[in-house]
Amino acid sequence: MTRQSILALNAGSSSIKFALYDLASSQELQLVSRGTLDLGDRSTLRAKAADGTVQCDRRLAADKPQDAAIGEMLNWVRHELGGRELICAGHRIVHGGSEFIEPVRLTPEIIEAMDRLTPLAPLHQPRSLAPVRAIAALQPDLPQIGCFDTAFHQTIEPIVRRFALPRKYEGEGLRRYGFHGLSYEYIAGRLGEMSPTLAVKRTIIAHLGNGASLCALREGKSVDTTMGFSALDGLVMGTRCGAIDPGVLLYLLLERGIAADRLQTMLYEQSGLLGISGISGDMRTLEASNDPRAREAMELFAFRAAREAAALANTMGGLECLVFTAGIGERSSSVRKAICEKLAWLGVAIDGPANDAHAQTISRPESKVEIRVVATDEEKIIARHSRVVMQV
Ligand code: ADP
Repeated sequence: MTRQSILALNAGSSSIKFALYDLASSQELQLVSRGTLDLGDRSTLRAKAADGTVQCDRRLAADKPQDAAIGEMLNWVRHELGGRELICAGHRIVHGGSEFIEPVRLTPEIIEAMDRLTPLAPLHQPRSLAPVRAIAALQPDLPQIGCFDTAFHQTIEPIVRRFALPRKYEGEGLRRYGFHGLSYEYIAGRLGEMSPTLAVKRTIIAHLGNGASLCALREGKSVDTTMGFSALDGLVMGTRCGAIDPGVLLYLLLERGIAADRLQTMLYEQSGLLGISGISGDMRTLEASNDPRAREAMELFAFRAAREAAALANTMGGLECLVFTAGIGERSSSVRKAICEKLAWLGVAIDGPANDAHAQTISRPESKVEIRVVATDEEKIIARHSRVVMQV
């Protein structure tokens, strides 16, 4: 029988992460390759096998449009498949609105419906849909599945979701949605696999990457999160501002006459770590810098993360477990330390050597809060959902 494979795509701001899985005979998926298509000025296609062997490291022509770069990736995947059959491509879709919760087969009508959600995520939704459209044009018979970053937060209670605006706006979709749901779903599942007692703890997951948010879990379900209507809310991020007094925006628009599109660019692309440091939105670069502004940016990042974590602990009525994940959460011991120290009053006690060693458990034995470092895997969740939708 021909072996079947699933391609999972996770489109970000300047790159598309992808992973190819084989459907093993059991329920589990077997990773074949994992790679990144960088779409910056110097487009590159990189991929590694499951054992870390480099399979591809190719610079694409500088002027290659995005669709053509996606085509190259697809060609590479097809070549890698050998005799196997690619049964579908699964995608992370940033916004499902109130309508899309379960993963769905992406028909032209559904893609249009998702496009209509673009005003809710003006920068992110088009990036999610670009590879869907490119693949639909290149390989129209390949089924495509959409998995929504907002879906995991559907369990959040109305009081937590609501803005104190005139009521009619809520009915028009102005509410908190929350994002990074595929990452949170994966981590919640991993906690369950690690131990049944861990899975039911009142937990905060800190997804700290270029985009960053926190999610409060009770019994493995999302009860609060720091991102809201948009992916701008909550924590200080690489280039996004996080929570901000809306009066600041009114002042900039009405008193300073800043154009709305310039304000959007400022809030999404020029703020956060980059805005404060004036150096970079990349945490690794800031950690390597001696500039006091880099230090201030990192301090603000940790201060705001701890402040939001305390608010989420309040939603849950306590805190028993704190999980760090994504680029910064998995790899920056200094950021984890700074956040945990600010939460000491909640019973968070970090173990210095374990933290420096990036151990799985980094809390001291006497800590009231178990502190974990867990690697996220959004592509795996996408592939799992795609398999279910394809009923294979
Ligand atoms: P994305 O949100 O784009 O998926 P990632 O989860 O890959 O991003 O996280 C990117 C962030 O992680 C960047 O700020 C990067 O500097 C940071 N990062 C990666 N490795 C390290 C490291 N060893 N130490 C500190 N920060 C790191």
